[in-house]
Amino acid sequence: MAKIIFLGTAGAVASAQRDNTSLLFMDDSGEKFLIDCPGSPVTKLAKLGFDYREISNLILTHTHVDHIYGVPSLLHSQYRLGNKVNIFATQECLLLIRGLISFHRLEDPEKFPEVSFQTIPADKDNFLFFQREKTLISSFPVKHTPDSIGLKICLKNPPLTCVYSGDTAFSRTIVEEAKDADYLIHDCACPSRFAKELEEMHTSALALGEIAEEAQVKTLVPIHFLTEIEFKMEEIENEIKKNFSGNLIIPSDFDSLELKPQLS
Ligand SMILES: [Zn+2]
Ligand SMILES: [Zn+2]
Repeated sequence: MAKIIFLGTAGAVASAQRDNTSLLFMDDSGEKFLIDCPGSPVTKLAKLGFDYREISNLILTHTHVDHIYGVPSLLHSQYRLGNKVNIFATQECLLLIRGLISFHRLEDPEKFPEVSFQTIPADKDNFLFFQREKTLISSFPVKHTPDSIGLKICLKNPPLTCVYSGDTAFSRTIVEEAKDADYLIHDCACPSRFAKELEEMHTSALALGEIAEEAQVKTLVPIHFLTEIEFKMEEIENEIKKNFSGNLIIPSDFDSLELKPQLS
């Protein structure tokens, strides 16, 4: 069964309990995608019993450090495998990754993976960049930095949709992309009492409930929690539930979500 594993659920600052946000998506054929790549992906994959050498697809949602700083380490770990790694990202993000690869001297194909850079346009809605028999992945712009994208995963058997926001402030595009989605995994930086300085780039729990309710999302999964300010997850839960009547899952790091069609 297709699944998403939460490798990290924190915002820019990691904590003892939560690392920076990244996900492992695996479709039912076993194809794996690392969505954002902070920290040590190799350690996290090993803890989950996955072989880091099998990771050949990276999707990077934007250039911020907390989403990309593990890329050189992952490529460096795949030493002398003679493999190829696809990196899907916007032009700006790929430019930065090329720079990191050069800076860390990871360009020698005899030693390190051959990297295939797959450009995603930052400004296009519904841009289909991965298509297999039962799995489609498309991108759309979100409101964070000019190069930030969200993702929509559509599975055909059984049919379901899962939308991932990346980091984002409120965006009308997300409401449209997530309309009736089985899952919406969305930035939820903090309770609304802290949100004033953040609302240009992130989303509060109160606002996220409104977004998910308007989109009639079936299951909402908030992530990218700020760890540098103090609040309890109950506050996040209570704020979301003020506006959202669907299913709510608040993940911890290493939680696994089996993707199946959700009831309203
Ligand atoms: Zn972030
Ligand atoms: Zn960011």
